[in-house]
Amino acid sequence: MNNIPKFYKTSLTDIESIVKSAKKGSLTTLCNSAGNRPIYMLRYGKDNAFNRTANLSSALGGKDKSCFADKSAPDYIPTLCLVGCIHGGEFEGTAALLNLINVIENGCDLAEDSFDDLKALADKVNLIIIPCINPDGRSHVPFDSFVGKTFNDLRYYNQGTWADGTLCGWPECKKRHPIKQYVDYLGGYFNDDGVNLMHDDFFGKKALETQALFDVCERFAPDFTVLLHGGTNCKNHIIGPAYASLEIKERVADFEQQLKQNCEENGLNLYTPNVNFDYGENANPPTSFNLPSALTHLCGEPCVTYESNQGLTDAPIGVGSDYQEIYNHHLILFKTLMQYLLNKR
Ligand SMILES: [Zn+2]
Repeated sequence: MNNIPKFYKTSLTDIESIVKSAKKGSLTTLCNSAGNRPIYMLRYGKDNAFNRTANLSSALGGKDKSCFADKSAPDYIPTLCLVGCIHGGEFEGTAALLNLINVIENGCDLAEDSFDDLKALADKVNLIIIPCINPDGRSHVPFDSFVGKTFNDLRYYNQGTWADGTLCGWPECKKRHPIKQYVDYLGGYFNDDGVNLMHDDFFGKKALETQALFDVCERFAPDFTVLLHGGTNCKNHIIGPAYASLEIKERVADFEQQLKQNCEENGLNLYTPNVNFDYGENANPPTSFNLPSALTHLCGEPCVTYESNQGLTDAPIGVGSDYQEIYNHHLILFKTLMQYLLNKR
């Protein structure tokens, strides 16, 4: 195994010990996963009074979004929700979240570098941090980093193998759902029941993990929610919710431009696919109504996927980033999100 830097902690044990040692944040166990593993949420800041009298659908039906969440108070504090490890083999964001927690708690990251500007921003917003929403999936990957691993390692451990031992791969792994009865090795994509949270049955009976995330998004109506993923050796990018109002898509594109600028100022590239608001929702077949779209419809604010490079030695597209680049991308993402929410107030 290659040398994993101090700032790159991603195991379930690391997650648990870091969230449990938090003193400034308030820790909640949202639920236990299908495989009976705890899912932790850390919150920083103070609650906003929404004066809620209706759910979002009814509030919009009444032409008054403030009936769902009144955000007009002068002392309103914007809320950012960051969710790691939706897919258990994609924990680049989890590593960064654990450092963000350490920066807020102790003024420095896990490598003991201080990030005063990030801390100052974090102290001004409400933060909801769920380092690992899919601990079952995380447990299906028996190591702490994909940096230096091969594309086939990722396929094996993240998407798993069919009953005959062949690699499921993407996108074929989505053609069976829940996948559990079809596989030999259950990959990190899935909870122990074989559910891919990104494609749960949102209008039917949902996995406990998905329901927990729904409840958080509805209760706190975060102003921006980011589901942190890894996308092999892609250029880092945001994927906005395909099924959302034009106003929300414009906000995602607006944020994307700010993120691109901040990345470039720090010598990093960002791929920007959201500029024309076309997510394939009018194609045939249309883009899937997936978790970010569902969450957007619950809280009325942008919920997006963030795809990070995973540092593989080989992949069909792209070059693997190193640890520092993966980490820097996430820190800039977090900072830009906080700046964006504060500037919009
Ligand atoms: Zn993913």
